[in-house]
Amino acid sequence: MKTALITGIFGQDGAYLAKSLLKSGYRVFGGDLSTAPEYQSNLKYLKADKDVSVFKLDLTDSKSIIKALKKFRPDEVYNLAGQSSVSLSFRKPGLTKAINAAGVNKLLTAAGSECPQARIFQASSAEIYAGLKKGKIKESDKPRPISPYGESKLMAQKHLERFRDKYGLFACSGILFNHESPLRGTGFVTRKISGAAAAISLGLQEYLVLGNISVERDWGYAGDYVEAMRLMLGQEAPSDYVIATGRSHSVRGFVDAAFAYVGERLDWMGKGVKEIGVSRRSGRTLVKVSAEFYRPTDTGALIGNPGRARRRLGWAPETGFEDMVGMMVEADLRRLKAGKK
Ligand code: GDP
Repeated sequence: MKTALITGIFGQDGAYLAKSLLKSGYRVFGGDLSTAPEYQSNLKYLKADKDVSVFKLDLTDSKSIIKALKKFRPDEVYNLAGQSSVSLSFRKPGLTKAINAAGVNKLLTAAGSECPQARIFQASSAEIYAGLKKGKIKESDKPRPISPYGESKLMAQKHLERFRDKYGLFACSGILFNHESPLRGTGFVTRKISGAAAAISLGLQEYLVLGNISVERDWGYAGDYVEAMRLMLGQEAPSDYVIATGRSHSVRGFVDAAFAYVGERLDWMGKGVKEIGVSRRSGRTLVKVSAEFYRPTDTGALIGNPGRARRRLGWAPETGFEDMVGMMVEADLRRLKAGKK
């Protein structure tokens, strides 16, 4: 029986990955900052909470990493822990780098001494390319981060390259483009939209306020992306891969799809912060824009080219955009009807 250790087990990807590994017969150990029951809702949602052994892990503390690796002796390590908010990274750049970059260095150092045979996956991010003005991004493009978050993920990727090239660790970075699900945190724009579409349709919220709705993202489904992580660690040689759908939609397009799921068609009027989305059915304004949610720097579009992952890993996303948006709104409708957040 193989053993996997997942850091950041309570996040969206931790839950989907744990579920997938358990299905394949793995023993799964999951680390996070706290093991309190209130953080286990994502594992519970996927009915994986009883089968994952959770433990306390802090990537900024080498001792806690070494202790876990010594105890669990993993065959595979998936590093999904991190400060995952781009907007928070502008306010807390030091903390973001301490966790997302220095923390990864600590993890790799510990793995090199405690379990050098283990295969390691690092969750990197499309944000390392946020400053690139081009079409679909591939692995050979030169990174250009524009946020402390993007910088921290690029630093981590460099650490991985060093440990791979100099010390022979089997370590792979998945350059993950945005990936969403009903378990996405509510601070991300997709969950903010799916939650609002559900709440507005149930008469629990009047309207939704967003930032820049013209930006485009390549949004995939998290359940598909964790399969790519596993495939990377199953290759003969370690390498880095862009994981994306290759298709982009604007935030406005995501709003359209979410509201369509609850039977609303929106007409868009005005420009910039004056833009509004009006219900064709009732004439009510359901979406507004505010400068409050704009970022100091943002990338207009971020689209990935998953060609290499398709060719080498045989990976392709299975869940389409509309299906994913529908799944998210449906889950939020259920949560709200059940009286949960
Ligand atoms: P990110 O790509 O990892 O930063 O994921 P987010 O879901 O947080 O943001 C995706 C894009 O949506 C960014 O370009 C944001 O500027 C844009 N956006 C527009 N309005 C909002 C909003 O109200 N909240 C968030 N989080 N993002 C917004």
